[in-house]
Parts: sequence; structure tokens; C-alpha cells
Amino acid sequence: MSTPAATHAPGRTDADGVAARARGLTKAYGSGETTVLALDSVDVDIARGRFTAVMGPSGSGKSTLMHCLAGLDTVSAGQVWLGDTEITGLKERELTRLRRDRIGFMFQSFNLIPTLNAAENITLPMDIAGKKPDAEWLERVIETLGLRDRLKHRPSQLSGGQQQRVACARALASRPELIFADEPTGNLDSRAGLEVLGFLREAVDELGQTVVMVTHDPGAAAHSDLVLFLADGRIVDEMARPTADAVLERMKRFDTIRTPHGGGEGPSVGLGLNVPGPDGATAHPDGSGGKEKRTENRTPTEPSSAPSPDQD
Ligand code: ADP
Ligand code: MG
Repeated sequence: MSTPAATHAPGRTDADGVAARARGLTKAYGSGETTVLALDSVDVDIARGRFTAVMGPSGSGKSTLMHCLAGLDTVSAGQVWLGDTEITGLKERELTRLRRDRIGFMFQSFNLIPTLNAAENITLPMDIAGKKPDAEWLERVIETLGLRDRLKHRPSQLSGGQQQRVACARALASRPELIFADEPTGNLDSRAGLEVLGFLREAVDELGQTVVMVTHDPGAAAHSDLVLFLADGRIVDEMARPTADAVLERMKRFDTIRTPHGGGEGPSVGLGLNVPGPDGATAHPDGSGGKEKRTENRTPTEPSSAPSPDQD
């Protein structure tokens, strides 16, 4: 397998191939009796040049994990590194610069500026920062995302899928070390959702980017290289080369644990992106079906509280 990521960030000592790392990452909200432990001593390595999905019940800490890894939120204890830079302890101004220069974001609501056209939206963060986009890179991003003939369109003139592609291009434009996407397909119909997942996959495979995506949808998670499962603020399992069916099976176990006497409705399949392939196996980017390589599931830790299993 080619590793385009290895050549993509010269000058950085990323021999270990870790784009972001957390050790003992703990995040508590509130104080006293009302304290909520959103993250409970999480250790995680986000592999460079890979597509990592984060799944788990609502309230399990997915967004908090993403925000803490991205320097959008402070931590209560533990350490976080972006590449070689420890970001825990940085001042707000340094964090702002680091986020601007090294991280890209995609959210469920595309957050495009309605009065700007696609091209202007894509380069907006760099324009604000007074930076010139690398023209060659920007061309590749626009080409890869198939936005060439949409650049002059305003968001209102674009479909949801096209808007999310513009948001994806905006996240990629500065060639960040790491892209975080929080439910990027949450507002899209299944076809547009599949398209965006395909482009995120290409950003990793063709452009050597690193992507971390939160999703509720096993079909969406199946496009990733590795799924991290969160429950009650802890990473309780992971699955390499996931398939939608395997992810769905794994998620059902969260519900079994939470409602031992029945009544669990099972996780939402969301957009229903888990379209079976021709042989009945779920499609996988490398065509392998991903079945044999599935990691053995560890026994999940027993949740101490019972957050509602509904969606965010
Ligand atoms: P997820 O994204 O998996 O749904 P979150 O990371 O948003 O979960 O939240 C994890 C836990 O932390 C939840 O119990 C949530 O209610 C709590 N939480 C998140 N943000 C805040 C906040 N700003 N203040 C208080 N509690 C919060
Ligand atoms: Mg969330």
C-alpha cells in the first residue's frame, strides 16, 4: 500500500506516523455533585494518513474527544499532542494559530457563507489569516472534489452534497495535518452522503490527508480504516477495516449492556449507507469486504451511567 502521507509533511518528525496523540485525556464538565466525566483517561493515537471513525452512544464523549484533540476545548487532566507539539498548556493565542495552520474542520451544518461563492468560501480561512493558498494544492483539491464547474456558485445554488464538498475543500485548502469531521453526512441524503464519504476517502488515499470523523452511521464508518468505539468517556473497543454489518453488530452490544432487561431499540443506521455489495458483503474501499482482518472485540467496560441511546 502506498503511503502518500509519509512524503506530505517534510520537516516534521513524524516517523512514528502519529498525527495526534492523547494520554490520560480526562475532561470533566461542572463541579461537585453535578460533575460530568465526558472523557475518562483516554489514551489514543490517531494514525497519520489514515481515516479514523469515532462511534458510540449519544453522550459518550465523541465530540468532546474531537474538540480536545483539536485544541478547541481545554482538558481537565492528561496530555494531547498534535504531531510533535504538545497542545495542552498552550495559550489561547497559540492554540488559535495552531488550529488555523494545522487543522481543518467539517461540521454537520456546512457553515458556508451564503454571500460568497464556492471559491471564496474555500479560501476564506486563509484569506482571513492573510495567507496565500498553495495554487497547485488547491487545484488538486478542487479537481479531486469535482468542484471545478461549481466555483462561481453561491451555496444556495448548490445541492447539499455539493455544499459539503465545498466545506470539505475549505477544510483541505490549507493542507492541514489533520481534518476533523463531526457527522459530516448527518444532513445529507444517502447518495450525497456516500459522495462526501468517497471524497474524504480520496483525501486520505490520493492526497495523503489524515481524517477523524464522528458518525452514528455504521455505513459511513465502513469507509474508514479504523473505528474507535467510545462508551462513557472511554475507548472500549476498536475495529480495523470495518464493515457496516460488523460495526452494527458491535453497536448493538452497547444497547444490550445499557438495557439488560430489554427495550433497547438498537443503534440508528442513519442514512442507510451500508449498501450490500454484489456478493452480499458490505462494500469496502479496498474491495476485500474487510471481513477477515476484523480485530477481536474486547469486552466493553461496564457503563456506570445510562445516557439515553438517542441521537445527538
Ligand atoms: P457525544 O458527542 O458522544 O454525543 P459529547 O462529547 O457531546 O458526547 O458529551 C459527552 C458528555 O459531556 C455528555 O454527558 C454531555 O452532556 C457532557 N457535556 C458536553 N459538553 C458539555 C458542556 N459544555 N457542559 C456540560 N456538559 C457537557
Ligand atoms: Mg457529539
